[in-house]
Amino acid sequence: MIEGSCLCGGVRYRAEGVAGPMANCHCQLCRKAHGSAFSTILPVERAGFSWLRGEDQLAHFESSPGKRRWFCSQCGSQLISTRDADDRSLLLRAGCIDSGCGSRPVAHGWVEFMAPWHRISDDLPRFERGFPGAPPGVE
Ligand SMILES: [Zn+2]
Ligand SMILES: [Zn+2]
Repeated sequence: MIEGSCLCGGVRYRAEGVAGPMANCHCQLCRKAHGSAFSTILPVERAGFSWLRGEDQLAHFESSPGKRRWFCSQCGSQLISTRDADDRSLLLRAGCIDSGCGSRPVAHGWVEFMAPWHRISDDLPRFERGFPGAPPGVE
């Protein structure tokens, strides 16, 4: 069972069923959405995901067609992202996870777009574009 919340605490969720590997995404969309060098994402089953509170406080931005980034309209925390074409899984934005989650990043994706001031300091595989072997919707 994974639980997470936003910065102000107004929105909380619970997720069951990891649907793919955790990874660090260096794409420019994640960098700007999160205001950070990269975002860490964890795919989970939609069927096991539920909002515990604050669902009416959510807003979203469609950063590319069909890709929606859901955040708290009070504090701006990025909580999850969804793809209209993927009704099986969604991506937790791992910085908002409060509980354990049983996963660690296994790869860096989209490093072609990595921030020029950032330096990766681990030996995980790096993919210039996308995340080979990851489920669709990882971006
Ligand atoms: Zn909030
Ligand atoms: Zn990304």
